[in-house]
Amino acid sequence: MDVMDGLSTIIALSYLIAASLFIYGLKFMSSPATARKGNLIAAIGMFIAIVVTLLDRKIIDFTWIAVGIIIGSLIGAVSARKVKMTAMPQMVGIFNGFGGGASALVAMAEFLRATSTSEGILHLDASISIIITIIIGAVTFTGSFVAFGKLEGFITGAPVQFPLQKVVNVLVILGAVGLSVYIIGWAPSWTLFYVVVGLSLLYGVLFVIPIGGADMPVVISLLNSFSGLAACAAGFVVQNNILIIAGSLVGSAGLILTQIMCKAMNRSLTNVLFSAFGTGDMEAGATTATGDKVARSVDAEEAAMIMGYAQSVIIVPGYGMAAAQAQHAVRELTELLQSRGVEVKFAIHPVAGRMPGHMNVLLAEAQVPYNLLYDMDDINPEFPHADVALVIGANDVINPIARYDKSSPIYGMPILDVDKAKHIIIIKRSLNVGFAGIDNELFYDPKTSMFFGSAKDKVQELVSEVKKL
Ligand code: NDP
Repeated sequence: MDVMDGLSTIIALSYLIAASLFIYGLKFMSSPATARKGNLIAAIGMFIAIVVTLLDRKIIDFTWIAVGIIIGSLIGAVSARKVKMTAMPQMVGIFNGFGGGASALVAMAEFLRATSTSEGILHLDASISIIITIIIGAVTFTGSFVAFGKLEGFITGAPVQFPLQKVVNVLVILGAVGLSVYIIGWAPSWTLFYVVVGLSLLYGVLFVIPIGGADMPVVISLLNSFSGLAACAAGFVVQNNILIIAGSLVGSAGLILTQIMCKAMNRSLTNVLFSAFGTGDMEAGATTATGDKVARSVDAEEAAMIMGYAQSVIIVPGYGMAAAQAQHAVRELTELLQSRGVEVKFAIHPVAGRMPGHMNVLLAEAQVPYNLLYDMDDINPEFPHADVALVIGANDVINPIARYDKSSPIYGMPILDVDKAKHIIIIKRSLNVGFAGIDNELFYDPKTSMFFGSAKDKVQELVSEVKKL
């Protein structure tokens, strides 16, 4: 065996180890208790994959690779440290975009290389994977930036619609695919190639722009899957096995996550993508339902009395807890109640907050023990026995309208059975609506006490009042 063969064997074996680490990492990530370990395992896998790829004998100059690694690592490290927990979906969105863009650039470079050698002839398999990478990568790139813009608020969150939109969309993507077939089959022309790139970039914008801001997390998850597929196709372009494996893992994980999110909202993916759902007003909406309904409010002292003398309290966190960064105060309150002999449990709805696992991540960050966190199916039977349900900045995920009003946008979404608890205390700043933009009758339930204010301040007030009991 010569040196080159030996090197190829080392590379292949290391890729096998890296791929196994990715799969183990993913497995560990499926539970909050092991997620950090999973992340670390997958990161080690990626490290091995990168180092081994750098041994590849086809690399003739490391300068640009080193520049890329340094710039990329700096941007990654700074943004990961600085990003607010509530802005995580945007960050994931933009990283997906870069991932898709990078795959498209690799494929473009390969097209240039292939067409400028071998008398401009492209092999069928190479050209198919190049074109697939470009189309998916470019769509992911612009689509992710529109999703990012909608979540950041510099593009309107409302669905942007115009006449014959669906026809235009279909024509654009068919144009890109049709021209690609022509390029592959008959004429590998650069001009037509640029048109395909342009049409794909345009389709990314057209695909995401009619979707309401409320559905952006689902779209980001779908684009995450696209970025994986683009990487997988790029793996075929440069014939790199680890890229093919990592890309397909990302592609399938993103798709599974998209399905989970749709299921938790009881909506189909087609409905999310084509129904222009929601006003796009991400923060609390404008409608405050009052009319003849009366919401009862409590102060910190009364709320602390109700909770401090309860036997069991179920805490229901939602987006407002994340927005106010109240998780540390919530942990303090939990410990305080436990020290008084109160049984405290957390009810975690799969789509509470703005991204899957949002509440788990925040509570883990604040060191709330995992064994206090219960999934919806496990905790729902416990609400009728709970003395108090303390809702912290949640709204849609506890809205009973989802059970019976077929005209409601959240009809059919499984909810936390907060209304079955003996007392309900709801911390939020007003009677305003949540993400789905609809009123919540629970605020006017005779068992409910509204504790108005920002979540962090109000939980801190509760902490000081419970201490006084
Ligand atoms: P909601 O968006 O329904 O409600 C959050 C509530 O928090 C608002 O009504 C707001 O009321 C309150 N709030 C905002 N800021 C603060 C603050 N600083 N202090 C206290 N309260 C605050 O949140 P839920 O978590 O109940 O539901 C999540 C929604 O997001 C669902 O509709 C879900 O479908 C959607 N979604 C979630 C995804 C996910 O993966 N998690 C993905 C896609 C969509 P007020 O203004 O009165 O304070």
